[in-house]
Amino acid sequence: MRGSPRVARLFGIDIRVHFTFAFVLVWVAIEFGRQGVRGAIFGTLAILLLFACVTFHELGHSLVARRFGITVREIVLLPIGGVARMSREPTRPSHELLVAIAGPLVNLVIALALAIVLATRLGGVLPTEALWLAEMEKLGTNALLFWLLAGNLGLALFNMLPAFPMDGGRVLRALLSFWLGKPRATTIAAGIGQVLALGIAALGFVGPGNPLLLLVGAFVFFGASQEKLASRAQELLTQLSAAEVCNPQAQTLAAGDQLGDVVDHALRTNQALFPVIYGSDLIGVVLRDDALNAAERLGLRASVRQVLRRDLPVCDAATPLLQVRDRIAETGQPVVVLDGTRLVGVLGAEDLARISQLSSQLVRAGIRRPEAPVPEPASAPRSAS
Ligand code: ZN
Repeated sequence: MRGSPRVARLFGIDIRVHFTFAFVLVWVAIEFGRQGVRGAIFGTLAILLLFACVTFHELGHSLVARRFGITVREIVLLPIGGVARMSREPTRPSHELLVAIAGPLVNLVIALALAIVLATRLGGVLPTEALWLAEMEKLGTNALLFWLLAGNLGLALFNMLPAFPMDGGRVLRALLSFWLGKPRATTIAAGIGQVLALGIAALGFVGPGNPLLLLVGAFVFFGASQEKLASRAQELLTQLSAAEVCNPQAQTLAAGDQLGDVVDHALRTNQALFPVIYGSDLIGVVLRDDALNAAERLGLRASVRQVLRRDLPVCDAATPLLQVRDRIAETGQPVVVLDGTRLVGVLGAEDLARISQLSSQLVRAGIRRPEAPVPEPASAPRSAS
């Protein structure tokens, strides 16, 4: 994500912090700074530790997702929370359930550990309100531990609200999916999310009014709507096969072609992979980047055979689009679509981006995929007029 420098790498996942996070630190320092320098230091330390807990929450999602073969690109910390960017969503409801629940579970475990440490430090006495107020006044270690305990409980509870885009919404969808199927489960879970969002926003109007609740309500409402659209678009994609969306006019190369020919094609198309044909056989592929690199070293008149790859990234014409999409996301390379031995076309990340944008547009416009035309009977009676 842009404007998010890397601050750490944990379990092979980049941890990035969005630059707007600096404003949160300044704001917290000013707010707590009303209690003097000690307050400002306390506030800054507390928020940094809380966001460390948010990072662990996201790592919880990420490590479980990785067990199910999903690649986690990075974790980005934003002022409103963290986001783990994954190559794809879990497909099975059981996987979605475990991935979603792992995050809040991490916060509950942290809260439990903090409670044990606090109880030990307080000599096992149950804290009274007066004791807490006194501790918070001192702004010492106990206050920090208590603040983090409350923060982690808050994170777990807020995230388990059964509303998209929160984890609880995903848990609910996964549970409903077991017997209703994903599309219906999504509609119901998103509907509950929207009702809940309106409830949260309504609370913002009660009494003196709370603009933060209005903001959270709006955030949840639009998150739920977004999820509903995304799911319908996804449903549309599940009906497509590789052959239906690949580029049938993909430029091919002959075995005798030169690297200069690839440069010519690269100027005219955004194709990243070129099938190489010899006679009527597909003998390999040339990647655009390989060819451009080689052209620099070997010159434009060198043969494409110099960069020919024989490990063919092929897939069958009937392969479901979603399956091919996962594969392209994992390898970062386009695939050649074959019907038996016949070349059907090439399918790459650009085609996927086009088709996913198109499916969102179709869903938003309420256009359904046209059914295959019903063949007219040969002797259709002419309607009398
Ligand atoms: Zn989460």
